[in-house]
Amino acid sequence: MLRSHPEETSSSLSTIPGMASSQPAVLVTPLMPTAVRNVVACSAAGWPSNRSAFADTSTDPPKLATVRSSVSERGLSVVYPMTRTKTGVGRARAARSTSVTATRQRVARAMHRLGLAMRAMAEPAVEKIAEEEHSDPFKVLVATMLSAQTRDPVTFEASNRLFARAATPREMVKLRVSTIEKLIYPVSFYRHKAEHLRETCRLLLDRYGGLVPSTMPELLTLPGVGRKTANLVLIVALKGEDNICVDTHVHRISNRLGWVETRTPEETERALYQVAARRWWPQINLYLVTWGQNVCKPVYPTCGRCAIATLCQRIGVAKVGK
Ligand code: SF4
Repeated sequence: MLRSHPEETSSSLSTIPGMASSQPAVLVTPLMPTAVRNVVACSAAGWPSNRSAFADTSTDPPKLATVRSSVSERGLSVVYPMTRTKTGVGRARAARSTSVTATRQRVARAMHRLGLAMRAMAEPAVEKIAEEEHSDPFKVLVATMLSAQTRDPVTFEASNRLFARAATPREMVKLRVSTIEKLIYPVSFYRHKAEHLRETCRLLLDRYGGLVPSTMPELLTLPGVGRKTANLVLIVALKGEDNICVDTHVHRISNRLGWVETRTPEETERALYQVAARRWWPQINLYLVTWGQNVCKPVYPTCGRCAIATLCQRIGVAKVGK
């Protein structure tokens, strides 16, 4: 798990863009060009090095504790700031590095086991639609928008009803909002979603030639599309390998397992980029959503028949189901 280390609280070094000069920071070499330092700072904060997965400018600057953990773990040369306590720095650094490495190993073991254990389980609705529709980016985008806070069977049925009437942005933009509402009912927030869908179709036609854009910043300009939706479209439809899609299942289970210690899905996404090896990034959503729907449910998770129980810290789990 990634936690801040209170001993390291002051520094005379500050080089990470966007940080106040009073904050401590990380250097790789004193002569490093600014562009390289930027990449190191972003990479160290757990953002993918090509920035495609975390390229929207709305995110906060890297948190210092996160930067240090990550840089240390990646084996880069790090200049640590002077500390007020002057004791225990080496121990804290070593413990943090060991902790991240150990978590990475637990993530890898759990993902291997989940991959085997979930073979007989039903796929989540969006993956099912992607499979049936040959990963059509527009249909994956629409299904993902409909799936927010909606049960999978409802998402699946509503998506298919809508696609039977309009399978492309050009066809869907011709429908009245009220017609879309009727077609997608009873998905949650169907009125808002109907408006967002129609407006999204209009923008796809006006700005992107009727195609779904392939970058995070562009996807985030579409109404009703947040990081979760954008990441899932990039992974499922566009075969992106630089993204982790964090929804409520991924956020909940990652914390229960003790992989991360976070309060929001966005924090979880950042933390997961550090504690999960890159090869697992595209799979994390599929595996944990499937597990969350079948075993590690929000209330009364069935820990007694969980394939990864021996790897789970069960943080926050008070009662279990049978
Ligand atoms: S052991 Fe329980 S809390 Fe942990 S992943 Fe399995 S079902 Fe969830």
